[in-house]
Amino acid sequence: MHFAVTILGNNSAIPSHERFPTAQVVTYEDELFLVDCGEGTQMQLAKYKIRRNKIHHIFISHLHGDHYFGLIGLINSYNLLQRTEPLHLYAPAELESIIWRQLECAATTLHFTLHFHPLGTPSLQPIVDLPHLRISCFPTRHRILCFGFLFEEKPRRRKVIPEKAREWNVPLSFYKNLQQGDDFVSASGAIIPNRELTMPPPRPRKYAYCADTLYDESLIPYVAGCDLVYHEATYLHRDLHRAIERYHSTTVQAATLARKALHNGGKLLIGHFSSRYEQLEDFETECRSIFPETYLALQGATYFIGTPWKARM
Ligand SMILES: [Zn+2]
Ligand SMILES: [Zn+2]
Repeated sequence: MHFAVTILGNNSAIPSHERFPTAQVVTYEDELFLVDCGEGTQMQLAKYKIRRNKIHHIFISHLHGDHYFGLIGLINSYNLLQRTEPLHLYAPAELESIIWRQLECAATTLHFTLHFHPLGTPSLQPIVDLPHLRISCFPTRHRILCFGFLFEEKPRRRKVIPEKAREWNVPLSFYKNLQQGDDFVSASGAIIPNRELTMPPPRPRKYAYCADTLYDESLIPYVAGCDLVYHEATYLHRDLHRAIERYHSTTVQAATLARKALHNGGKLLIGHFSSRYEQLEDFETECRSIFPETYLALQGATYFIGTPWKARM
Protein backbone atom coordinates (compact mmCIF):
# COMPACT_ATOMS: atom_id res chain seq x y z
CA MET A 1 0.00 0.00 0.00
CA HIS A 2 1.34 3.37 -1.02
CA PHE A 3 1.92 5.59 2.03
CA ALA A 4 4.05 8.68 1.52
CA VAL A 5 4.36 12.41 2.06
CA THR A 6 5.20 14.98 -0.62
CA ILE A 7 6.52 18.37 0.42
CA LEU A 8 4.96 21.43 -1.27
CA GLY A 9 6.39 24.14 0.95
CA ASN A 10 9.18 23.96 3.54
CA ASN A 11 9.66 27.55 4.68
CA SER A 12 8.39 29.44 7.70
CA ALA A 13 6.71 32.84 7.77
CA ILE A 14 8.12 34.62 4.69
CA PRO A 15 8.42 32.89 1.29
CA SER A 16 12.09 33.18 0.30
CA HIS A 17 15.00 31.49 -1.51
CA GLU A 18 12.39 29.81 -3.76
CA ARG A 19 10.94 28.14 -0.70
CA PHE A 20 7.17 28.28 -0.19
CA PRO A 21 5.46 28.41 3.23
CA THR A 22 4.33 25.16 4.81
CA ALA A 23 2.20 22.62 2.96
CA GLN A 24 2.46 18.92 2.32
CA VAL A 25 0.37 16.12 0.86
CA VAL A 26 0.08 12.75 2.56
CA THR A 27 -0.89 9.94 0.17
CA TYR A 28 -2.44 6.70 1.37
CA GLU A 29 -3.37 4.30 -1.43
CA ASP A 30 -5.51 6.44 -3.72
CA GLU A 31 -6.46 9.14 -1.23
CA LEU A 32 -4.65 12.46 -0.78
CA PHE A 33 -4.65 14.54 2.40
CA LEU A 34 -3.46 18.14 2.38
CA VAL A 35 -1.68 19.16 5.56
CA ASP A 36 -1.44 22.94 5.98
CA CYS A 37 -1.93 25.25 3.03
CA GLY A 38 0.50 28.18 2.98
CA GLU A 39 0.46 30.84 0.28
CA GLY A 40 1.09 29.36 -3.17
CA THR A 41 0.01 25.83 -2.30
CA GLN A 42 -2.22 25.45 -5.36
CA MET A 43 0.66 26.50 -7.61
CA GLN A 44 2.87 23.90 -5.97
CA LEU A 45 0.16 21.25 -6.46
CA ALA A 46 0.15 22.11 -10.16
CA LYS A 47 3.95 22.22 -10.41
CA TYR A 48 4.36 18.75 -8.92
CA LYS A 49 1.37 17.36 -10.86
CA ILE A 50 -0.60 16.41 -7.77
CA ARG A 51 -4.25 15.77 -8.57
CA ARG A 52 -6.02 18.23 -6.30
CA ASN A 53 -9.41 16.64 -7.00
CA LYS A 54 -8.21 13.59 -5.08
CA ILE A 55 -8.02 15.75 -1.95
CA HIS A 56 -11.13 15.35 0.23
CA HIS A 57 -9.60 16.24 3.59
CA ILE A 58 -7.57 19.35 4.46
CA PHE A 59 -5.89 19.80 7.85
CA ILE A 60 -4.82 23.23 9.10
CA SER A 61 -2.55 23.09 12.14
CA HIS A 62 -3.01 26.68 13.33
CA LEU A 63 -3.92 30.14 12.17
CA HIS A 64 -0.52 31.67 11.48
CA GLY A 65 -0.66 32.82 7.87
CA ASP A 66 2.22 30.65 6.66
CA HIS A 67 -0.04 27.64 7.31
CA TYR A 68 -3.34 28.74 5.75
CA PHE A 69 -3.07 31.83 3.52
CA GLY A 70 -3.29 29.57 0.46
CA LEU A 71 -6.55 27.99 1.54
CA ILE A 72 -9.09 30.54 0.29
CA GLY A 73 -7.36 30.53 -3.12
CA LEU A 74 -7.57 26.77 -3.33
CA ILE A 75 -11.24 26.72 -2.26
CA ASN A 76 -12.01 29.43 -4.82
CA SER A 77 -10.29 27.45 -7.58
CA TYR A 78 -12.21 24.30 -6.66
CA ASN A 79 -15.38 26.34 -7.02
CA LEU A 80 -14.40 27.88 -10.36
CA LEU A 81 -13.51 24.40 -11.62
CA GLN A 82 -17.04 23.23 -10.70
CA ARG A 83 -16.04 20.86 -7.94
CA THR A 84 -19.09 19.02 -6.61
CA GLU A 85 -17.46 16.54 -4.23
CA PRO A 86 -17.60 17.50 -0.55
CA LEU A 87 -14.48 18.82 1.15
CA HIS A 88 -13.69 18.25 4.81
CA LEU A 89 -11.71 20.92 6.60
CA TYR A 90 -10.14 20.29 10.04
CA ALA A 91 -8.82 23.40 11.77
CA PRO A 92 -9.01 25.62 14.84
CA ALA A 93 -12.60 26.86 15.19
CA GLU A 94 -11.95 30.50 14.21
CA LEU A 95 -11.09 29.51 10.65
CA GLU A 96 -14.70 28.72 9.83
CA SER A 97 -15.88 32.33 10.15
CA ILE A 98 -12.77 33.62 8.32
CA ILE A 99 -13.49 31.42 5.30
CA TRP A 100 -17.21 32.23 5.18
CA ARG A 101 -16.48 35.97 5.54
CA GLN A 102 -14.03 35.83 2.62
CA LEU A 103 -16.59 34.02 0.46
CA GLU A 104 -19.37 36.34 1.53
CA CYS A 105 -17.40 39.49 0.62
CA ALA A 106 -16.78 38.06 -2.83
CA ALA A 107 -20.46 37.08 -3.18
CA THR A 108 -19.27 33.55 -3.83
CA THR A 109 -21.61 30.59 -3.48
CA LEU A 110 -19.90 27.24 -3.25
CA HIS A 111 -21.02 24.47 -5.60
CA PHE A 112 -19.75 21.85 -3.18
CA THR A 113 -20.29 21.18 0.51
CA LEU A 114 -17.58 22.38 2.83
CA HIS A 115 -17.73 20.41 6.08
CA PHE A 116 -15.91 22.23 8.84
CA HIS A 117 -14.54 20.18 11.75
CA PRO A 118 -13.23 22.36 14.60
CA LEU A 119 -10.16 21.11 16.44
CA GLY A 120 -9.90 21.87 20.09
CA THR A 121 -9.12 18.99 22.38
CA PRO A 122 -6.20 18.94 24.80
CA SER A 123 -5.09 15.38 23.94
CA LEU A 124 -4.88 12.86 21.12
CA GLN A 125 -8.24 12.84 19.37
CA PRO A 126 -9.30 10.74 16.32
CA ILE A 127 -10.73 13.00 13.62
CA VAL A 128 -10.84 10.78 10.50
CA ASP A 129 -11.65 7.08 10.47
CA LEU A 130 -11.21 5.32 7.11
CA PRO A 131 -11.19 1.54 6.47
CA HIS A 132 -7.38 1.29 6.64
CA LEU A 133 -6.26 4.59 8.12
CA ARG A 134 -6.96 6.61 11.25
CA ILE A 135 -6.00 10.28 11.54
CA SER A 136 -5.82 12.01 14.91
CA CYS A 137 -4.82 15.45 16.09
CA PHE A 138 -2.71 16.34 19.10
CA PRO A 139 -1.78 19.69 20.67
CA THR A 140 1.67 21.18 20.17
CA ARG A 141 3.21 24.06 22.16
CA HIS A 142 3.07 27.19 20.07
CA ARG A 143 2.27 30.89 20.51
CA ILE A 144 -1.36 30.26 19.53
CA LEU A 145 -3.52 27.11 19.57
CA CYS A 146 -1.76 24.60 17.32
CA PHE A 147 -2.21 20.93 16.42
CA GLY A 148 -0.09 18.17 14.99
CA PHE A 149 -1.58 15.26 13.03
CA LEU A 150 -0.94 11.55 13.39
CA PHE A 151 -1.61 9.21 10.45
CA GLU A 152 -1.87 5.60 11.63
CA GLU A 153 -2.42 2.62 9.42
CA LYS A 154 -4.86 0.13 10.96
CA PRO A 155 -3.64 -3.43 11.54
CA ARG A 156 -4.38 -5.71 8.60
CA ARG A 157 -5.56 -9.32 8.83
CA ARG A 158 -3.25 -12.30 8.45
CA LYS A 159 -2.60 -13.53 4.91
CA VAL A 160 -3.69 -17.08 3.97
CA ILE A 161 -1.02 -19.18 2.21
CA PRO A 162 -3.22 -20.79 -0.52
CA GLU A 163 -1.04 -23.86 -1.14
CA LYS A 164 -0.93 -24.68 2.59
CA ALA A 165 -4.68 -24.18 2.93
CA ARG A 166 -5.30 -26.51 -0.04
CA GLU A 167 -2.89 -29.10 1.40
CA TRP A 168 -5.09 -29.33 4.54
CA ASN A 169 -8.38 -29.06 2.63
CA VAL A 170 -9.39 -25.87 4.37
CA PRO A 171 -12.81 -24.84 2.97
CA LEU A 172 -12.98 -21.36 1.45
CA SER A 173 -15.65 -20.45 4.00
CA PHE A 174 -13.00 -20.82 6.76
CA TYR A 175 -10.48 -18.41 5.16
CA LYS A 176 -12.01 -15.50 7.09
CA ASN A 177 -11.32 -17.35 10.36
CA LEU A 178 -7.74 -17.99 9.27
CA GLN A 179 -7.27 -14.30 8.54
CA GLN A 180 -8.46 -13.57 12.08
CA GLY A 181 -5.92 -16.00 13.56
CA ASP A 182 -8.03 -19.12 14.22
CA ASP A 183 -6.45 -22.59 14.08
CA PHE A 184 -7.97 -25.15 11.71
CA VAL A 185 -9.30 -28.56 12.77
CA SER A 186 -9.01 -31.08 9.94
CA ALA A 187 -11.56 -33.82 9.12
CA SER A 188 -9.44 -36.32 11.05
CA GLY A 189 -9.46 -34.04 14.12
CA ALA A 190 -5.86 -32.78 13.82
CA ILE A 191 -5.31 -29.18 14.92
CA ILE A 192 -3.36 -27.22 12.31
CA PRO A 193 -1.90 -24.12 13.97
CA ASN A 194 -2.79 -20.86 12.28
CA ARG A 195 0.89 -19.92 11.80
CA GLU A 196 1.30 -22.90 9.43
CA LEU A 197 -1.52 -21.69 7.21
CA THR A 198 -1.04 -17.93 7.22
CA MET A 199 1.56 -15.22 7.15
CA PRO A 200 1.53 -12.29 9.58
CA PRO A 201 0.29 -9.00 8.13
CA PRO A 202 2.80 -6.19 7.59
CA ARG A 203 3.40 -4.00 10.65
CA PRO A 204 1.07 -0.97 10.61
CA ARG A 205 2.92 2.22 9.67
CA LYS A 206 2.69 5.66 11.30
CA TYR A 207 3.49 9.20 10.28
CA ALA A 208 3.35 12.26 12.54
CA TYR A 209 3.33 15.90 11.53
CA CYS A 210 4.31 18.08 14.49
CA ALA A 211 3.44 21.50 13.01
CA ASP A 212 4.96 24.55 14.78
CA THR A 213 6.18 23.94 18.30
CA LEU A 214 8.64 24.71 21.01
CA TYR A 215 10.78 21.78 22.08
CA ASP A 216 8.23 19.78 24.07
CA GLU A 217 8.75 16.28 25.41
CA SER A 218 5.01 15.90 25.94
CA LEU A 219 4.88 15.21 22.18
CA ILE A 220 6.88 12.00 22.64
CA PRO A 221 3.90 9.72 23.42
CA TYR A 222 2.16 10.92 20.23
CA VAL A 223 5.11 10.35 17.91
CA ALA A 224 6.74 7.33 19.60
CA GLY A 225 7.19 4.38 17.28
CA CYS A 226 6.48 6.36 14.12
CA ASP A 227 8.17 5.35 10.89
CA LEU A 228 8.52 9.00 9.97
CA VAL A 229 8.12 12.19 11.98
CA TYR A 230 8.03 15.68 10.53
CA HIS A 231 9.29 18.13 13.15
CA GLU A 232 9.92 21.78 12.52
CA ALA A 233 13.51 23.06 12.77
CA THR A 234 13.01 26.74 12.08
CA TYR A 235 16.48 27.71 13.36
CA LEU A 236 20.02 26.43 13.57
CA HIS A 237 20.95 25.84 17.19
CA ARG A 238 23.07 29.00 17.47
CA ASP A 239 19.75 30.89 17.20
CA LEU A 240 18.14 29.06 20.11
CA HIS A 241 17.14 32.36 21.74
CA ARG A 242 15.08 33.25 18.65
CA ALA A 243 13.41 29.83 18.70
CA ILE A 244 12.38 30.22 22.31
CA GLU A 245 11.18 33.79 21.77
CA ARG A 246 8.99 32.78 18.81
CA TYR A 247 7.78 29.39 20.05
CA HIS A 248 9.77 27.40 17.52
CA SER A 249 12.45 24.68 17.63
CA THR A 250 16.06 24.38 16.54
CA THR A 251 17.83 21.58 14.70
CA VAL A 252 19.30 20.17 17.89
CA GLN A 253 15.92 20.21 19.61
CA ALA A 254 14.13 18.45 16.74
CA ALA A 255 16.85 15.79 16.62
CA THR A 256 16.83 15.35 20.40
CA LEU A 257 13.09 14.73 20.38
CA ALA A 258 13.53 12.20 17.56
CA ARG A 259 16.31 10.43 19.46
CA LYS A 260 14.06 10.07 22.50
CA ALA A 261 10.92 9.02 20.59
CA LEU A 262 12.06 7.01 17.59
CA HIS A 263 13.54 3.53 17.61
CA ASN A 264 13.60 0.61 15.18
CA GLY A 265 14.44 2.62 12.11
CA GLY A 266 12.18 5.66 12.59
CA LYS A 267 13.21 8.68 10.50
CA LEU A 268 13.08 12.43 11.09
CA LEU A 269 12.06 14.93 8.45
CA ILE A 270 12.81 18.59 9.24
CA GLY A 271 11.29 21.70 7.70
CA HIS A 272 9.72 25.13 8.34
CA PHE A 273 13.09 26.79 7.71
CA SER A 274 13.52 30.44 8.57
CA SER A 275 14.02 32.80 5.65
CA ARG A 276 17.20 34.09 7.38
CA TYR A 277 19.06 31.03 6.04
CA GLU A 278 19.66 30.60 2.34
CA GLN A 279 21.57 27.32 2.55
CA LEU A 280 20.14 24.32 4.36
CA GLU A 281 23.14 21.94 4.59
CA ASP A 282 23.91 22.92 8.19
CA PHE A 283 20.39 21.94 9.24
CA GLU A 284 21.00 18.37 8.19
CA THR A 285 24.52 18.28 9.64
CA GLU A 286 23.45 19.60 13.04
CA CYS A 287 20.54 17.18 13.31
CA ARG A 288 22.56 14.18 12.14
CA SER A 289 25.15 14.74 14.86
CA ILE A 290 22.37 13.80 17.30
CA PHE A 291 19.95 11.72 15.22
CA PRO A 292 21.66 10.30 12.08
CA GLU A 293 18.41 9.37 10.33
CA THR A 294 17.44 12.98 9.67
CA TYR A 295 16.41 14.28 6.24
CA LEU A 296 15.61 17.75 4.95
CA ALA A 297 12.01 18.21 3.78
CA LEU A 298 12.70 19.35 0.21
CA GLN A 299 10.02 20.82 -2.03
CA GLY A 300 8.76 18.37 -4.62
CA ALA A 301 10.36 15.39 -2.87
CA THR A 302 8.29 12.40 -1.79
CA TYR A 303 9.27 10.46 1.33
CA PHE A 304 7.90 6.95 1.69
CA ILE A 305 6.62 5.95 5.10
CA GLY A 306 7.85 2.60 6.42
CA THR A 307 10.33 0.15 5.00
CA PRO A 308 12.10 -0.01 2.70
CA TRP A 309 12.89 3.65 3.30
CA LYS A 310 13.24 5.71 0.18
CA ALA A 311 12.82 9.25 -0.98
CA ARG A 312 12.06 10.37 -4.52
CA MET A 313 13.25 13.80 -5.61
ZN1 LIG B 1 4.74 28.53 10.82
ZN1 LIG C 1 3.16 29.32 13.72
